[in-house]
Amino acid sequence: MKRITILGATGSIGQNTLDLIGRDADAYKVVALTGGQNIDQLARDAIRFRADIAVTADPARYPDLKAALAGTGIKAAAGPEALSDAAARPADWVMSSIVGSAGLAPGLSALGQGATLALANKESMVCAGPLMLAAARAHGATILPVDSEHSAVFQALIGEDLSAVERVIITASGGAFRDWPLAELANATPEQAATHPNWDMGQRITIDSASMFNKALELIETKEFFGLSADKIEAVVHPESMIHALVGFRDGALMAHVGPPDMRHAIGFALHYPDRRALPVERLDLVALGQLTFRPACETRWPALRLAREVMAAGGLAGAVFNAAKERALDGFLARDIGFLQIAEVVEEVLTRVSAQPGHIDAAITLDNVMQADHLARVRAEEIIHQKRG
Ligand code: NAD
Ligand code: MG
Repeated sequence: MKRITILGATGSIGQNTLDLIGRDADAYKVVALTGGQNIDQLARDAIRFRADIAVTADPARYPDLKAALAGTGIKAAAGPEALSDAAARPADWVMSSIVGSAGLAPGLSALGQGATLALANKESMVCAGPLMLAAARAHGATILPVDSEHSAVFQALIGEDLSAVERVIITASGGAFRDWPLAELANATPEQAATHPNWDMGQRITIDSASMFNKALELIETKEFFGLSADKIEAVVHPESMIHALVGFRDGALMAHVGPPDMRHAIGFALHYPDRRALPVERLDLVALGQLTFRPACETRWPALRLAREVMAAGGLAGAVFNAAKERALDGFLARDIGFLQIAEVVEEVLTRVSAQPGHIDAAITLDNVMQADHLARVRAEEIIHQKRG
């Protein structure tokens, strides 16, 4: 029986993971499930899957969780340390699907016990790629990508030599505003940004898709995950979201990964790896599909992509600063403190200010330094948002 833990079980990726596990429940033992504010869902799933422990990230919700699990024999816990403790419980496979840099420490904790880490939390790789890879090496753990583009690249690379790779192309749907005139973007609302044309995902990643910050994070994630140089990695807009990524080799061959936009493919691939098992995803009818189209990923329209290049060139803690500034700017957009186009302005300004202070970007990539850079970037972003409002 495979022992499973899901960090971020109540979210979109977490629920898709439980959907797959629930189809063959006898094959799995659920160790820990974690969530945030959605206590009903967390408790319901913990009971349904007979988890050993359920953890909410919010200490204030501990009494609710404890009450919801009363009499079930399932342990309740709360707070960031409890998340990392849950991730350290012996398990064979841990899904890292918390949103944001909050997923970093629990993911590292899972690597520390040697588990296979299915990584949806791209922020871990963006903030601390070398730290994640070193932790996996040190503890004999494996990291498998779950982000659809990175799962696609990983699959295209099976049996291939990385030195033969000429380029990696990851696709972007273009998000909610891909067909909007540039002039109207300034007035885009959070509600408008939170509707995705193809994928059904959490609110934050959906808005990041509209601003292209999701793709910016994924360019950096590609560099960190596969150890490729930035000049080999590109993004292209592909409105149908059927091709997830392509790997170009030095003989000119381009291997594409094609499938319907359903995260259960990438999750299932990571769950069964190295086997390929049947998955409940739609099979594509190419004739019905008719055609697939592509457009340039314009860095003027989507400044996040330009910033990602700058972050990859800077290295060090630039990824952590970039991600945290984006997380804080997104909060500002959701609170209507700043407009949609100001998300990128805030992130760029934070990068400029933090980079100007010697020792911040080029400090060693340790968990402490990453969390300090994350904190500093949020403070700077807050100041800039305040100025923009004022
Ligand atoms: P979501 O918002 O639907 O769920 C997030 C989960 O994290 C929830 O369980 C929530 O309770 C928990 N959480 C939120 N804040 C937390 C905190 N501070 N501490 C601990 N837990 C917290 O998000 P999602 O769409 O499932 O995305 C999860 C991760 O997977 C993100 O990193 C996202 O970029 C990545 N991802 C998602 C998709 C997708 O289809 N949804 C695709 C590719 C990658
Ligand atoms: Mg993706």
